[in-house]
Amino acid sequence: MDQIRPFPPTDLIDQAEEEEAIRLAPAIDLKEWVVTNFLTVGGHLHNPDHDHIAELLHDNEEFLAFAWASSAAVAKKRMVLGQCEKVMFNQGGWKKARQEQQMRDWYGFVPQYLVTVDASFCEQATDHDFCALIEHELYHIGVERDEDGEAIYSEMTGLPKHYLAGHDVEEFYGVVRRWGASENVKRLVEIAKNPPFVSDFNVSACCGTCVIG
Ligand SMILES: [Zn+2]
Repeated sequence: MDQIRPFPPTDLIDQAEEEEAIRLAPAIDLKEWVVTNFLTVGGHLHNPDHDHIAELLHDNEEFLAFAWASSAAVAKKRMVLGQCEKVMFNQGGWKKARQEQQMRDWYGFVPQYLVTVDASFCEQATDHDFCALIEHELYHIGVERDEDGEAIYSEMTGLPKHYLAGHDVEEFYGVVRRWGASENVKRLVEIAKNPPFVSDFNVSACCGTCVIG
C-alpha cells in the first residue's frame, strides 16, 4: 500500500503572496492521514499515547480538525510552525457566529480542537520533520491521568478527560548553563540519548518517499 503524505493545496501559498496576507484552508485529507497512521492500531506511526484522541474521535468525529496556514506565524519573536488550540469563541454575538460559521463552512461542524500547520514549511519539510511536527501538535491534546498513568474518564460522558497540554520542558539555555538542569531537562537529555523510536522505514511507509524515488 503506497500512501503519499498530504500536501497543502498548491494555490494557497501563491494566493497568500499575491494578497500579502496569511491565508488559511481546511486540511481534510490531513486528518484522514493522521487517523490512519498515528491514531489507528497497526498504523505505521501508531502511538498509544494518543489512544484517548482516537477514542474521542471514534465517539465524535467533530472532536478534531486540521487546517493549513500559508506561512508561519510569529509569536514572541519565534516562528510558529504549528498550533493546537482548544476551539473556544469567548466573545458572543456576531463575532462568535462569524467564527463558528467559518468552521462549519470548512468542516461542516465546529471542532473541539483545531490543529493548524504552516503549509510552506510542510511543503518543503522532509517526511521526518513533517511527521515530528504533526506528532508535536497531537501531544498538545492531553488526557488526565491517575498516579498509575491510567487515563481518567469523565463520569458524565464516559470518555477520556482531555485538556490542552503544555510542553514537557520549557527552559532557557542560560538557566541550565548557570543553574543546572531541572528534573524535566534531565529527563529530556536521558531520552535524547536513545535512538528515535520511529524508524525511517515507518516514516517512508506512510509518506511514500521511497515509492516516488
Ligand atoms: Zn507546542
